[in-house]
Amino acid sequence: MEKHLQHPVFKVLADTAAKHDIEAYVIGGYVRDIFLQRPSKDIDIVVLGNGIEFAELVAAQLKVKVAVFKNFGTAMLKFQDLEIEFVGARKESYRSDSRKPIVENGTIKDDQLRRDFTINALAISLNKDSYGVLVDPFNGTEDLQNKLMRTPLDPEVTFSDDPLRMMRAIRFASQLGFSIDEQALEAISQQKARISIVSKERITDELNKIILSPLPSVGFKYLFDTGLLHLIFPQMANLYGVEIINGKGHKDNFYHTLQVLDNICEATSDLWLRWAAILHDIAKPATKRFEEGHGWTFHGHEDKGARMVPQIFAQLKLPLNEKMKYVQKLVQLHLRPIVLAQEVVTDSAVRRLLFDAGEDIESLMILCNADVTTKNEYKVKKYRNNFELVKQKLKDVEERDKIRNWQPPISGNDIMTTFGLGAGKEVGLIKNAIREAILEGEITNSYEEAMEFMLRKANELGLSPVNN
Ligand code: ATP
Repeated sequence: MEKHLQHPVFKVLADTAAKHDIEAYVIGGYVRDIFLQRPSKDIDIVVLGNGIEFAELVAAQLKVKVAVFKNFGTAMLKFQDLEIEFVGARKESYRSDSRKPIVENGTIKDDQLRRDFTINALAISLNKDSYGVLVDPFNGTEDLQNKLMRTPLDPEVTFSDDPLRMMRAIRFASQLGFSIDEQALEAISQQKARISIVSKERITDELNKIILSPLPSVGFKYLFDTGLLHLIFPQMANLYGVEIINGKGHKDNFYHTLQVLDNICEATSDLWLRWAAILHDIAKPATKRFEEGHGWTFHGHEDKGARMVPQIFAQLKLPLNEKMKYVQKLVQLHLRPIVLAQEVVTDSAVRRLLFDAGEDIESLMILCNADVTTKNEYKVKKYRNNFELVKQKLKDVEERDKIRNWQPPISGNDIMTTFGLGAGKEVGLIKNAIREAILEGEITNSYEEAMEFMLRKANELGLSPVNN
């Protein structure tokens, strides 16, 4: 392993350890990532004894400052582009009501045993007589080869001690394309209720990492199969299942949503667009009806879905800001391009969509493309072709009419001063009528035509301009 310790900082660490007769190891994610060929800038160092004192000795050598977290018994320093954390080797025991362990000094093996997964428990010695030797008491390298998430301890104990590890297991599996060991999976199913002692923020942090992984369906299937999803995000688990009446079924909206999510990941790495994929059909269970002679319908699921977004964001402690508004808008509009693609596309329908989607029209088209999950090749081709037509039409209309970020050429204020009106119903009526006329293509998007239209409309309402 010595060849992986090329950075000069490892020599400083080793020399300092030797000089003060301290046993030190590189441990955790940094070592794992060597095997995964993912270069990492975060180095964790564990020493037998006092981690903070060792950090201070190293910092003095490197002539950098050290940040000490006394309560945690850890210290951190930055050197060049590296972030190095120091901790003393620990032996941990847990109480049932808290993720916070009772900590005592321990051996390197005790410390490896308290790590969450065998692949995260690998250590490399920085000691004189064994410099660069891999310390792998739980066969972590074998698990890396077999792409397996396994716990050093009995998984029931590992997950019960710190239930966040259940989310971490699934997150790593999703990020790395690993499987979770059978016994560990069974233990997650058994211990799932313990997730209640983990803060919502931490759960959502892991959930977002799953969503940002290359194939998030891997993580979501584990979340669903273990029953964790039902606890942390019941609305999504609710999408699961097919009901059959008179021999007619509908598609399983859980697996459909996962397919849409995986599809969208090929087109975007934006977390919020991926969230829109997760939530686009979230109100289908709530709006599901069986209509005689017609079959299954989900009327209004886009409206109800959009209304559910703020509530879900609040529940998951996701930000209630413009990101939430963006997701909400995409959920609200997700059927519009599909409807467009099925009909003869009129300019006015395109203008309307551009007006409603504004800046987010590209995101919306990406979502709609991902939403095509039929296995029927012919239909896929047809929809995708129609989307291309819609996209072309969007481009043409946008170039001509500049509807995106558009404000009608006459404002409410203009209307009020022209007719000597205060803010009220009539102003809104006239303003809407102008906007509609432009979107419908009755008049062009120009000040002159809008002015003329306004005067006509006002006349119909019995209003005439005031002189000023
Ligand atoms: P990533 O950077 O992708 O989040 P990581 O494992 O490198 O993954 P950390 O979450 O900082 O980064 O964890 C560092 C190490 O600490 C892990 O490799 C693991 O050994 C240990 N660890 C972290 N969290 C836990 C936990 N909840 N239980 C046990 N060990 C943990």
